[in-house]
Amino acid sequence: MKLIDGKQTATDIKKEIAAEVREMVAAGAKKPHLAAILVGHDGGSETYVAFKIKDCEEVGFKSSLIRFEDDVTEEQLLAKVNELNNDADVDGFIVQLPLPKHISEQKVIEAIDPKKDVDGFHPINVGRMVIGLPCFVSATPDGIVELLKRYNIETSGKDCVVVGRSNIVGRPMSVLMSQKAINATVTVAHSRTKDLEALCAKADILIAAIGIPEFIKGNMVKEGAVVIDVGTTRVKSDQTKSGFKLKGDVAFDEVAAKCSYITPVPGGVGPMTRVALLKNTLLAAKKEIYN
Ligand code: NAP
Repeated sequence: MKLIDGKQTATDIKKEIAAEVREMVAAGAKKPHLAAILVGHDGGSETYVAFKIKDCEEVGFKSSLIRFEDDVTEEQLLAKVNELNNDADVDGFIVQLPLPKHISEQKVIEAIDPKKDVDGFHPINVGRMVIGLPCFVSATPDGIVELLKRYNIETSGKDCVVVGRSNIVGRPMSVLMSQKAINATVTVAHSRTKDLEALCAKADILIAAIGIPEFIKGNMVKEGAVVIDVGTTRVKSDQTKSGFKLKGDVAFDEVAAKCSYITPVPGGVGPMTRVALLKNTLLAAKKEIYN
C-alpha cells in the first residue's frame, strides 16, 4: 500500500505557485488578489477562512477578508458581492458557506461573476465543467484529480465508484472522472443505493465523500483498489489539545491493508482542496479561463 501524501503534494504545488507569482510580479504584473466574505462566527468557517488567508500569504497573493455579522441582510450581502464583481483589483473571491438561514446561498452564488467565482460553484462554471470547457472547477474534486495525476495513477478504463452526490464534492467528482482526459467508468452512489457494499467492492477507484466516520470498511474494498477519503468529521478525542480530531469516511487500518493507494485523514484531500483555490485564483489573475 502506498500512502498518497496530500500535504507534501500541496506544499510542492504552493512552491510552484509562489515561483510563478514572483515571476509575474517581477515582470510588472500585480499580485493575484483573493477576497473572502465571512458571515458570522462559526468555528469551522473561521478556521477555513484563516487557512485560506495564510495560504495566500505563503504564495505571495494579496488577500482581503470582509466580515459581516449573522444579522446581515441578503440585500447587504448581495451589494458586497456586486461591489467585488466590479472591483478591478480583486481577481477572485469566495463567500464562505454555510450562510445564515435567512440568506439564500444559491442566490448569493449566482450573484458572483463567474469570471471571479474561484470556488467554481456558479452554475456557469459547473455547466462549463460538465461539457468540458475551461472553467473554475470546485476545489475538492480538482485537488483529487491533481493527486491522481501526480501519483501517476492509471484511471483510463477503470471502474470508479463515487459515494456521495453533493454539489461541491460527489457530483462534480463523478463528472471529472468520466471526462475524456480521465476516462474512468463512473458510478455515483448515495443513501438510496442498493447493495452499496457489493458496488464499492467492484471499484478500482473508490472515492468516499459521505461524512460518516469509518463508513467504508475493509469488506467494501477490492484488493489493489485506489481509495480516496474525502470525509472530515470532527470527533471527540482525548489525544489532542483541542479535544477533537478529524475522522475520514474510511476505516483506515483495515482498508489500507487491502488497497494499492490511499489518502490519509488528515493530510490527504484537505490540503489539496486548499491549494486548488490558490490555483483557481492564479488562473483568474492570469485571465486564463475567461478574458
Ligand atoms: P453532504 O452534502 O452531506 O453529502 C453527503 C453525501 O453522502 C450525500 O450525497 C448522501 O446521500 C451520501 N450519504 C449519506 N449517507 C449515506 C449512506 N449511508 N450511504 C451512501 N451514501 C450516503 O456532504 P459533502 O459536503 O459532500 O461532504 C462529505 C464529507 O466530505 C464530509 O465529511 C465533509 O466534511 C467532507 N469534505 C471534505 C473536504 C476536504 O477538503 N477534505 C471538502 C468538502 C467536504 P444523499 O444525497 O442520498 O443524501
